[in-house]
Amino acid sequence: MEFNIDKIREDFPILKRTVHNRRLVYFDNAATTQKPLDVIESMDRVYRETNSNIHRGVHYLSDLTTRQYEEARETVRRFINARHDHEIIFTGGTTAGINLAAFSLGEKYIHENDEIIISAMEHHANIVPWQMLCERKKAKLRIIPINDDGELITAEYEKLFSDRTRLVSLTHVANSIGTVNPVREMIALAHERGVRVIIDGAQAVQHGKVDVQDLDADMYIFSGHKMYGPTGIGVLYGKESLLEEIPPYQTGGEMVDQVTFEKTTFNRLPFKFEAGTPNYIGAIGLGAALEYLERTGLEKIAAHEKDLLEYATRRLSSVGGLHMFGNARNKISVISFVLEDIHPYDAGMVIDKYGIAVRTGTHCAQPVMDRFGIRGTIRASMAMYNTREEVDRLCEAIEKVKEMFS
Ligand code: PMP
Repeated sequence: MEFNIDKIREDFPILKRTVHNRRLVYFDNAATTQKPLDVIESMDRVYRETNSNIHRGVHYLSDLTTRQYEEARETVRRFINARHDHEIIFTGGTTAGINLAAFSLGEKYIHENDEIIISAMEHHANIVPWQMLCERKKAKLRIIPINDDGELITAEYEKLFSDRTRLVSLTHVANSIGTVNPVREMIALAHERGVRVIIDGAQAVQHGKVDVQDLDADMYIFSGHKMYGPTGIGVLYGKESLLEEIPPYQTGGEMVDQVTFEKTTFNRLPFKFEAGTPNYIGAIGLGAALEYLERTGLEKIAAHEKDLLEYATRRLSSVGGLHMFGNARNKISVISFVLEDIHPYDAGMVIDKYGIAVRTGTHCAQPVMDRFGIRGTIRASMAMYNTREEVDRLCEAIEKVKEMFS
């Protein structure tokens, strides 16, 4: 099947709307993506036709909804090529997943003076949970630095390992500057030293094929809403042996086997990590999003986005007074820039008046801004439904910003 951009745009109802009397240009996809009809309708259908709490009912509707929820888990397994369904834990999103990892792995493996390696290009969601863990356990965070192009300095990474290193937690793709990290090699290097690796895949899974077995990640964590699925649902993939070893994060209903006042035993995987009523509607919506991605073809999406990134980089590079941050050799469709002498917020507000949604600020990655000595950037992040014409409209709006502030 061809990559038919007009057909794809038809699938996303919001793209038809106007903002400030102009057709919407949505370039805030790293924050969240828009949803295709398949996703919207799959969730609507559950609410209208089959809604019932899952797993604990013998009645007809409960059984139907439970089956759809478990089918969504199988779809996620296939999508990232995990070995087993029960290695897929539904969470509230990437933040929830990393907090689960930091607590459960921390309880089991982190002790006083142990060390955890993260990088200087992490989202706050992959910094603060580890910082809090280090405070609780009196452990230490070690940071992989980044070079002027916004790439991790892998030679420095290697030097950070010591006999106290217990964990590495690393972003696959940086949300602030788009860098794609060589996580496969970085995981292998950690494994050679007997250290487990957690990957924050929030900005990776929607842009190309991720195979968790090929990467050999111990955990791989992502959000539904950044991959055309609903909000409030995410995935923590973990290797079976690891998930078996670590204690649960949240406790309560559904995650237990036997409960007496003396002792509680926990349910098997994956339920051990899914306390309470899960967001089953969200999981079903996420399943629909992944099927949409599979049907569209991840290689085709990646090729389209690569073309768009090259075009946007070329067009924006020729704008006078525009400075880009993040020129990694391997990069996905994020362009982060500043305009000389213009505050990113001011620029963003004017760009919005032209019906174009971009994000301004630190993008929850303050250490990246500190690294480049800036207060923030304007970020245009692209998805499968964006076009070259939309990049042209952004360039026109930037010229208007410059005129206004000159
Ligand atoms: N990690 C990265 C790399 C991200 O881009 C984001 C979202 N901006 C997160 C983590 C947090 O994701 P969520 O807000 O969906 O929990």
